[in-house]
Parts: sequence; structure tokens; C-alpha cells
Amino acid sequence: MPRPISATISLSSLSHNLRIVAQQLTDGGVSAGRQRPSIWAVIKANAYGHGIENAISGFGQAEGLAMLDLDEAVRCREAGWTKPILLLEGFFEPADVETLVRHRLTTTVHCQEQLDMLSASRVPEPIDAFIKLNTGMNRLGFSTNDYLAAYGQAQALQARGILGTLGKMTHFARADDDAIVTQQQLRMFNQITQGLPGEVSLCNSAATLAPGLWASVPDRQDQWVRPGICLYGSSPFAEKSAAEFGLLPAMTLAAKLISVRSISTGEAIGYGCTFVSSRSMRIGVVACGYADGYPRHAVTGTPITVEGVCTRLLGRVSMDMLAVDLTPVPQARVGSSAVLWGDGGPSVDEVAAAAGTIGYELLCAVAARIPKIIS
Ligand SMILES: *Cc1c(COP(=O)(O)O)cnc(C)c1O
Repeated sequence: MPRPISATISLSSLSHNLRIVAQQLTDGGVSAGRQRPSIWAVIKANAYGHGIENAISGFGQAEGLAMLDLDEAVRCREAGWTKPILLLEGFFEPADVETLVRHRLTTTVHCQEQLDMLSASRVPEPIDAFIKLNTGMNRLGFSTNDYLAAYGQAQALQARGILGTLGKMTHFARADDDAIVTQQQLRMFNQITQGLPGEVSLCNSAATLAPGLWASVPDRQDQWVRPGICLYGSSPFAEKSAAEFGLLPAMTLAAKLISVRSISTGEAIGYGCTFVSSRSMRIGVVACGYADGYPRHAVTGTPITVEGVCTRLLGRVSMDMLAVDLTPVPQARVGSSAVLWGDGGPSVDEVAAAAGTIGYELLCAVAARIPKIIS
């Protein structure tokens, strides 16, 4: 028997969340008749830990997929995805250019080195590209001073048949917590790219869901948004839960109790004896630890559900085990089910908050050793 732990991936929740985002964009567009933007469903990092193939099934209605690993992009083509695929970091070396052509991948172009590599390439078919502007994130993208020249070089590559359609993109740094900074970035983007032809790609999950932001994007044709985390049922906002948007958890991490014991007043639990009981109590040991991707920094009190009852983590998380308080679940025994996060348990965002991190990190870190069940 394998260890009693599994991650269940709900394809219907993935599809549901995509529909919620599409709905939000339609409603958020406000002005009647305004077309909703196309959606790049972001599936980087093995679809935020959910599995590329599962994401392809769940996001069949998206207009495109976005990721950054070329191998993952090729896997999408091999799995039968024929619609556009956007590489969020573009390509890395000259040999990649051939892969772009062969698999019809749309590339981000964010630096001069990429333009140079393209210029030195011979391609049988042109490559579609989004030219990225840095509007304050200072991660990828041409600076405001260099953007027009870069876009001009891209147009020259287009004339040579190396690039195909050209688009414009940027990335927001604080769409989850600061509308003013986001509006500044948006203004800078509009100012610099004004008059340049091409599709536009701006919004991550937070910008897609932030009230009013999408509505304030000028009414242009050919808009693309790039939601990621929300499609998996986790919230990009610290102050607003995924459930408040009607999003459903796509991953449920569940395990079983492998030991149950009673401890008396003054006894401690686990490494470092960080939890000391102030009364006699029953505790359970769950077959899940940090080697499974459960955060070691989760503190005593982090919510966990046992037999459908919400209880709490006690003491430090071990590599393969963690302890829970069975006081509210007297019926619990060896073999009882525990939900670490997801359907029937706490949200991944609640667990992440208790560990001082974000849902993104927990979903991406789910260990390869955990069997995935598709539902
Ligand atoms: C990861 C990423 C996204 C999606 O971000 P979420 O916060 O998960 O919605 C969008 N655009 C780019 C460039 C990204 O790297």
C-alpha cells in the first residue's frame, strides 16, 4: 500500500473557474456590447502544480495557454492543443527559435538579446510575438526609453518574414493591493504604446479580478488577459477569498491519520517540543509533511479538517507527518480522513497565510511523490 496521501485535481473546477473569470470580464466591461478580452490561461510551473495535461482538459474553452518552459509548451502541442500558446519569458537561446516555429509558439520579446537572436535566424515561417514594456516591475521588458526602437526593430523583422503578428504587453506589480500604482503603470503603457499596431496583453489574475480595473482599460479590440492563480481556485488578494469570487479549489490535498494517542497535561508534541499541552487531549498523526509540500512554517493552530470537522495543527511539521488536535473530533481513529486544503477543508490560502506565504507557493510545491487523482 502506498502512503495514504493524495492530491485530487478537479477538472470541472478548473473549467468552472475559467467560466467565472470570463463572466467577471464580461460584467466588468460595463459598457454594453463591449467584447470581453481573450484569455491566456496561465499554466506555468506544471499548471501551478495541477499537471499540464489536466490544465489542458480543464481550460479547453480558453483562447490560449501561457507558460514559460518550452518543454511544457511542446507537451501542450503533443497533447493536442492547437490554439495559441504564449511563452511568457520568450526563448533563451538561438536553438529555441526553431522550436518556436515548429510548434507555432507565440513568444514574448523582452530584451535586445532576443531581437538579435531573431535577426540572426532563418525561419521557414514567421513567429508571432508580444513586445514587452517594463512599466515599473523592473523584471522583464524594454524600458520606456528603448521601447519604440525595439518595436521598430520587431517591425523590421516582420518585414523580413522572421516575425509575424506583433503585440504589446506589460505586467502589473501591485494589482493585488494598490490600484494607484496599477493605474500609473497602465497610463505609462498607454502613453508609450499609443499608435503602435497590435494586440494588447496586460492583466494577471489580480488585475483581471480587481474591481473596475479592466473597465478602465481603453476600449480597444484585441485584448488578452493572463489569469493564473485564480483559475486554480486560489485568491490573488490577501483580503478577499477565492470563495467570495465563486472560485472553487481545483486541488484537494488529503491524507489519513496513521496514529492516534492521548497525551496528558504538560506533554509536548514533535520536534523542538514547541507545543506543550495544557490539558489532557487526544491527538492524531497525519501522513503528510514538508516533503509532501506542506509548509514547514505552518504554525500551531493552522486549520486542518479531520472527518469533516475543522481542527488545528499542533507543533512543528515533520518531513512526512504532522500532528492534529482531535478534541473536536472524538470519533477520529487510525484511517480517518484529513483534508490539508481544498474541497471539504481549509482553503490553500488560509494554510499559506498561517505559514507566512501565499497559495501559489504551496500549490507549486506539491511533491511529485504524491499521487494525483483526476476527478
Ligand atoms: C505568472 C504570470 C501571470 C499570471 O499571474 P497570476 O498572478 O497567477 O494570475 C501573468 N503574466 C505573467 C507575465 C506571469 O509571469
